[in-house]
Amino acid sequence: MSDVEILSIGDELLRGIVQDTNTHWLACRIAARGARLRRAALLPDEPGVVAAALREALSRGPALVVTQGGLGPTDDDRTRRALALALGVPLEPHPEAERIVRRRFEELARAGAVAGAEMVEARLRMSRLPRGALALDNRVGTAPGVVLTAGPTTIVSLPGVPPELRWIWENPLSPILDRVLGPGGFAEVTVTLELRDESRIAPLLALVQASHPDVYVKSRATGHAEGEEVRATLAAFGTDDSEAGERVSAAYEALRAALAAERIAIRG
Ligand code: ATP
Ligand code: MG
Repeated sequence: MSDVEILSIGDELLRGIVQDTNTHWLACRIAARGARLRRAALLPDEPGVVAAALREALSRGPALVVTQGGLGPTDDDRTRRALALALGVPLEPHPEAERIVRRRFEELARAGAVAGAEMVEARLRMSRLPRGALALDNRVGTAPGVVLTAGPTTIVSLPGVPPELRWIWENPLSPILDRVLGPGGFAEVTVTLELRDESRIAPLLALVQASHPDVYVKSRATGHAEGEEVRATLAAFGTDDSEAGERVSAAYEALRAALAAERIAIRG
């Protein structure tokens, strides 16, 4: 199974100004592809810190490292520099990235969204990429995504603006992810239990976990004041969704039987 790490970059995330919803979105998509997200970090807009975190991630040899944020035209957008620093390569003009940026500003100028299409320095900055990079089209914003290879790891850098990140992930990046992560599937089922005391199902869940080691078993107290609900989630990876589904179904049957024996009702 392919391992993945995420580096979320931006002082605004660390100051609590922006909530890192992108990592949650990416975590869902990564799981859906049957890949395993191993780590996610929040990092400041400091190329040295980001480069060190990237090198550390590379030392673990995951199939994919996704960075997000810091690709825009403003001075705090320093991810390209961090990538170059981490890989020990220069930042240089990238003709395909420049074509993408130029075309976007021409479109935006025609639509009246920006005053002009001139490639001023701030715009050119988005088209200077680390040597060896592949530029990914961005039809929502203006900063191209970046793909680099370092040994066994593919590094993908996406803009932080959620609709841009999502569009790139689902469009130009999709065939690359197919290749890098390989085939895989995921299945999940969550049940709500009529139960005040989460500790009562702990031994049942431990039993289900022991007999289904390939299934992730997790109980979650809902935190309601009345405390009458506990949720239990069963999730599994597989070579495809149906294999993952079979694993979850088998564990679910075991859980259902164990709950029935203890007279714990499944709600709904
Ligand atoms: P752009 O290319 O559009 O300038 P960017 O790569 O420069 O994007 P940032 O400048 O880091 O991205 O962030 C732009 C905005 O995107 C932030 O102000 C915030 O609203 C949103 N954003 C950034 N990171 C995240 C995140 N991890 N989760 C949710 N929203 C985010
Ligand atoms: Mg920006």
